[in-house]
Formats: sequence, C-alpha cells, structure tokens
Amino acid sequence: MATIESSNAVNEQPAQAVQLAATARFSNRADAPEHARQAHYVRQEIMKEGDRLRGKYPFLQRKYESAISALIMLLSLAGMAATAWAYVQGVMPGWAALMINAVLAAVIHELEHDLIHWMYFRKTPWAHHLMLALGLIARPTTVRPWLRRSAHLNHHQNSGQEEDIEERAITNGQKWGILRLIMLADLPFAIAMHTLAQPGWRQKLWYVGYVGGALFPLGILSWSAWYLFLGFHLGNALFAPQWSATTLQVMSWINVAIVVWVAPNILRTFCLNFLSSNMHYFGDVQRGNLIQETQVLDAWFLFPLQLFSFNVGKTHGIHHFVVREPFWVRQMTMKRAHEVMREAGVRFNDLQTFRRANRWSKDGEAINGNTANAAG
Ligand SMILES: [Zn+2]
Ligand SMILES: [Zn+2]
Repeated sequence: MATIESSNAVNEQPAQAVQLAATARFSNRADAPEHARQAHYVRQEIMKEGDRLRGKYPFLQRKYESAISALIMLLSLAGMAATAWAYVQGVMPGWAALMINAVLAAVIHELEHDLIHWMYFRKTPWAHHLMLALGLIARPTTVRPWLRRSAHLNHHQNSGQEEDIEERAITNGQKWGILRLIMLADLPFAIAMHTLAQPGWRQKLWYVGYVGGALFPLGILSWSAWYLFLGFHLGNALFAPQWSATTLQVMSWINVAIVVWVAPNILRTFCLNFLSSNMHYFGDVQRGNLIQETQVLDAWFLFPLQLFSFNVGKTHGIHHFVVREPFWVRQMTMKRAHEVMREAGVRFNDLQTFRRANRWSKDGEAINGNTANAAG
C-alpha cells in the first residue's frame, strides 16, 4: 500500500490511480493526486458558499429543506393543473400550456433527482415515497424513480466509465448523428436501438423486459397515447377519414392529455438528456477524476434547453462536486462554483465534444475501440 502514497507516479500506474480514486476523489493531502486536491478545493469553496447563503438567508437552513421541497412540489403540481384548466377552458393556447408545463415538470425533475439522493424526508419514508410518486405522476414518460435510484447512484460512482448505464442509456459516448438525435427525442426508439445492440436474444429479451417494466404503467400509457396522437393526426392529414363520435370524443381527451401532460415531458426530457449527455465525458475519463467527469455548458444559445431542464447544463457539474445540496441552493451557488471550477481546470462550453463522441481526450487517441454503445 505504501506505493499508493506516491502521487507523481499516478499517471504512469493506472491500477494505483484506480485505488487512489476510490479512496481519495477529494483530498487535500500533499501526496494526493493533483485532480483530487483540485476537486477538494472546488468542493470546499462550493460548500462554503452554501453555508454563507444559509447564514444570510435563514430559510435556506437544513431544517427547512424537506418543507421547502414539499412546497415546491405542491406549487409546481398546482401550476400544472391550473395550466391544464386554462387550456381546457380555451383561455390559454396549446403551445403556451405545453411550454409552461414543461418548465414546471423540469422543476419537479430537480426534486426527484434530489429525492433520489435521499435529501428530503429521509426520516419519514411515507412522505419521501409520496413525493417520488407525485413526481412520477407529473412526469409519466420516465422510468419509475425507485428503479432509477440505483442507476443514478451508480452514475456518480462510475461517471464516464463503461458501467455508467444511466448516461449510456441517453446516448452518451455514441458518435453524433441523426440516430443519436432521434434516440434523444424518442425513448421507445432508443429502447429499441439499445435492445438491438444486445449481443444475444436472451439479453435482448431481458433488456426490453427490464426497461419496459421500469416504464410500467405510466410510461407505457403515456408513450402509447403519444403514438396514438401522432397516428390520428397523420391519418387525418393523409386520408381525412370519417371517425365515429366515440373515437372523436376519446381523441379529444387524448389531445388534452398530450398538450398539458405528455408533450411537455417529451420536450423537457429531450432538453435534459441533450444537455446531460453532452456535458458528461465518457470512455476515457480517469476513474475518480472529478475534473474530467463533466464540463459546464452555459453558452447563451443553449438558453431554451436550460429553460426546459432547469439549468442542468450550468448546474449539474456543480452537483458532481457537492451532491448534498438542494437544487435551489445549487442554483444560488452557481457564480462562485463556476469561478472555482474554472480555476481547477473544469472545461466550459467544450462544444468539440460533439465531434469526439464525449471523449475527454482532445487528441483523438482515446476514441479508438471504445464506442460506448453498439447502437452507435
Ligand atoms: Zn445526482
Ligand atoms: Zn452526472
């Protein structure tokens, strides 16, 4: 074990680096690798900023976090319901209802993500699970959060590695092209591609059963409604058929569900997954090196994507350094966090990642033979 103490040899000795990374992702010891000391500095500074804000604004204190999360959930759900009502009453156009509910569902997604890290109602499981259930009802197109939890915690443990299935599922590591774009927009299509990429029929069956099960029941229902909606309107445009009164009645309800519930989530998920799958590096990330795991995407022209994902391009990298901070505090620490992340060597707006299939290395060497996903 004595050799692990030697920091200068880390780059030359990957096995040692792995061991070090497992124990010292953040370390200010003089013999820790440079990246761990940088990560330690970034983490300390972000936590200091969080503490400073809690001192300045007492309502941000830890003891109120669960109550604030419940309040945000209630307000977001009420907002979605009010928007739906306004659309049904004819006082709000469909596009506005769709966009408002996408923003509100993105806020609820932040809540779900924090809940996955057990941030709220840790000591009252019924309230914790009720929050997760409400989040799922508001965001029916996604996998159930109870199943997502293990994939997401694994993402933090193995970010950018082959084991990082959460990021791979949203196309991270694949070569960029039209296929990757469609996979980001259409979850069932992505599942079909991932299924085809499985090596044998047993694995194909297992994969489709696992993901299909994770989407049961709301995911299956909402995506079925989406295709029915598309098929109905395509059929109308092409053939103008005479529908029965019952069909028209059912479709009018499906139309409402799509505008205020399903389409906002499809839009939101596209924006979230687009930013997330391009701001995480993949395939050649040094294990445990926080500086290489993410970049910050905060270019002005990404504004629409940030709007429908609650700023994930700007703030998700911060979360990799300091996991245990509610999303509203994360937003508030952003300015200071970006300063120290930049100082520590975290990249900003590295758009060349689109040409490198998420690889960290800029010389292209690491890309060879390490395609994340056979579907790509
Ligand atoms: Zn997380
Ligand atoms: Zn991440």
